[in-house]
Amino acid sequence: MTSQAVAKSLPKSIVLDKWEESGFSWSGDIVPAIFPRLVELVDAEHQQVVIQLTCELVKEDNVNWLKMSFVGELWVCCQRCLQPLMIDVTYDTRLALLYDETQSSLLDEEVDYVLLDEVLVTKHHQRVLPLSDLIEDELLLNVPLSAKHDDCDMVVEQVGEIEEEEADNPFAALAVLKDELKNKG
Ligand SMILES: [Zn+2]
Repeated sequence: MTSQAVAKSLPKSIVLDKWEESGFSWSGDIVPAIFPRLVELVDAEHQQVVIQLTCELVKEDNVNWLKMSFVGELWVCCQRCLQPLMIDVTYDTRLALLYDETQSSLLDEEVDYVLLDEVLVTKHHQRVLPLSDLIEDELLLNVPLSAKHDDCDMVVEQVGEIEEEEADNPFAALAVLKDELKNKG
């Protein structure tokens, strides 16, 4: 194996001791199916939909950064109509990997960080960074707790359930208002 060998699939983890100084990068295609927590939230038909990922471990100003660049879409289930709902995941982000909390004072306030102590695993006396878990954590941030379409077609058809939906459906509220005005006029 040469140092140029590129892993085909996203490495589950990387040895921090080995890559910390030289830097590490991986780019390729990932699918929700490889992430056990994320896949639970993804629509069954869309678990093999490819997202392009470039990730990079770099040291800048004595801080380790995990830079991530995603291009693609996540399809989750709408919590109202249970149909697929698309979440665009085309963006760049970075995560600071800190040795201790005091390092966070070096960062801008809006920068996301994790403490290495909390994520590193020791294997064969080496410090191992769970790369795949960190990527999955990042993708999970894109999925709202209760993902819903702005406007579900199904809601109109599910007459039996419409009462429950009225509370958070501005159009239903508007329709009621219109009816009231009509009755008054
Ligand atoms: Zn919906």
